[in-house]
Amino acid sequence: MQKVILASRNAGKIREIGAILSKYDMEVISRDDAGIPTFEVEETGKTFEENSYIKAKAIMDIANVPTIADDSGIMVEALNGEPGVYSARFAGEGCTPLDNNIKLMEMLKDVPDEERGASFVSVITMLFPDGRKLVARGEVHGTLLREMKGEHGFGYDPLFVPDGCTETFGEMDPAEKNKISHRARSLEKLEEFFTE
Ligand code: IMP
Repeated sequence: MQKVILASRNAGKIREIGAILSKYDMEVISRDDAGIPTFEVEETGKTFEENSYIKAKAIMDIANVPTIADDSGIMVEALNGEPGVYSARFAGEGCTPLDNNIKLMEMLKDVPDEERGASFVSVITMLFPDGRKLVARGEVHGTLLREMKGEHGFGYDPLFVPDGCTETFGEMDPAEKNKISHRARSLEKLEEFFTE
């Protein structure tokens, strides 16, 4: 089996991506299991594509085996696409998800219902030592509420109602979210590259 490194320590992501790639004779391992020394990769890109590339390239340059990295966030229409790649640190370095949600609710308090659209975006980049590159982008569009609802999920989930749904990602059963999320869609695209 071809080993593939996932440039992440998130066990859930390793399981999800591992389940797909195992069908194509690839075994996904974490950067720690690959023996990559601990260092933080600085996410200096302005797009999800750039940041996922930066993360994958940093690890592949050390390990010289195929490497996958993902980057994700939320793009709010009334804020011209912000916070985008800054979603995790929207309310400042070291902020909590609650700080981010409070900041977002505050910034959108005067925005009318019909202008509260937003999209979650997930981009997965897979790099190969011979220079090949696969980029898979997934998005889910929805509306941002004025108050947080639900205890599931993480990040901006309590504010986000996906189109065609009546509950926020925070209220939904995680299995339901995982069927329609931006990550589900980028993973489907990644899988399409291997089935083609
Ligand atoms: P990343 O770990 O660099 O990809 O940063 C992702 C950030 O975007 C997270 O810290 C969240 O703030 C936000 N985000 C990404 N995906 C989701 C999601 O599925 N639900 C809620 N927030 C998300």
